[in-house]
Amino acid sequence: MKHYAETLYDSYGQEFRVDRLYFENKTDHQHLVIFENALFGRVMALDGVIQTTEADEFIYHEMLTHVPLLAHGNVKSVLIIGGGDGGILREVCKHTGVEEITQVEIDDQVVEMCKEYLPNHSAGAYDDPRVEIVIDDGANYVKNCDRQFDLIISDSTDPIGPAEVLFTEDFYGNCKSCLKPEGIMVTQNGVAYMQLDEVVNTALRFKPHFADRSFYSAAVPTYIGGIMTFAWGSDNPAARQQTLETIEERYQSAEIKTRYYNPAIHLASFALPQYIVEATQV
Ligand code: SAM
Repeated sequence: MKHYAETLYDSYGQEFRVDRLYFENKTDHQHLVIFENALFGRVMALDGVIQTTEADEFIYHEMLTHVPLLAHGNVKSVLIIGGGDGGILREVCKHTGVEEITQVEIDDQVVEMCKEYLPNHSAGAYDDPRVEIVIDDGANYVKNCDRQFDLIISDSTDPIGPAEVLFTEDFYGNCKSCLKPEGIMVTQNGVAYMQLDEVVNTALRFKPHFADRSFYSAAVPTYIGGIMTFAWGSDNPAARQQTLETIEERYQSAEIKTRYYNPAIHLASFALPQYIVEATQV
């Protein structure tokens, strides 16, 4: 394999030179490939869609974790849906106040291959005593779950294939039942310019379940086409409207090292382009 072309969009895409192929196979759920690229380091793709690269993963993983964790301020229990590369888990584990983390990933081969070929993503987080890994369909898990969490992070692939169920109103309703009263849910919600329907659909499907709904964003170079949006749902509007001083205080006392996230970016990330504001007024 000399080049890897992403196939997320029919008429537009990105291509990577494959400097070394580490793994390519069809797992029980999806086609998994991991390769080396001179510019982005090790790259993992599932079903033709770029999932994560060593070079820019810090942006996405820091924003999908530290924004809700520091907005909430007292997260003890976290549920991660998906996240097989371990990047979300690594960032959540940095918060010493978190006491238990459950990660529900459908594809154990993604976990195993990323542990082997993308070791810097999980960076040992899978061995953290607070972590429980469940191999299951996330939709199935939350439907039958009788636990409640302070924070739910859905770090899934796009709504094609096994992750399609993770973008349904049923799933969001079941997640809400697994959320404590002041809890927060955040999700990977696609590149808004390219996948605006995903953002609109989530706005509609969050509406029956969360009193406070919004989106925030970050630009991730290998999620091509513009800003990556993250969906936000909670019944506690105050969490999303913390002051810069509060987030600054919490960031300092958390004593976590970040490369993209900082309190100013936290607040600014909720400022959205007008076309997204209008599209999500549903
Ligand atoms: N950061 C990436 C993005 O923004 O697209 C996502 C990274 S992570 C690799 C996505 C994970 O979701 C994969 O490990 C995949 O196996 C998992 N996944 C897909 N459908 C799932 C489901 N129904 N339940 C649990 N995990 C699922």
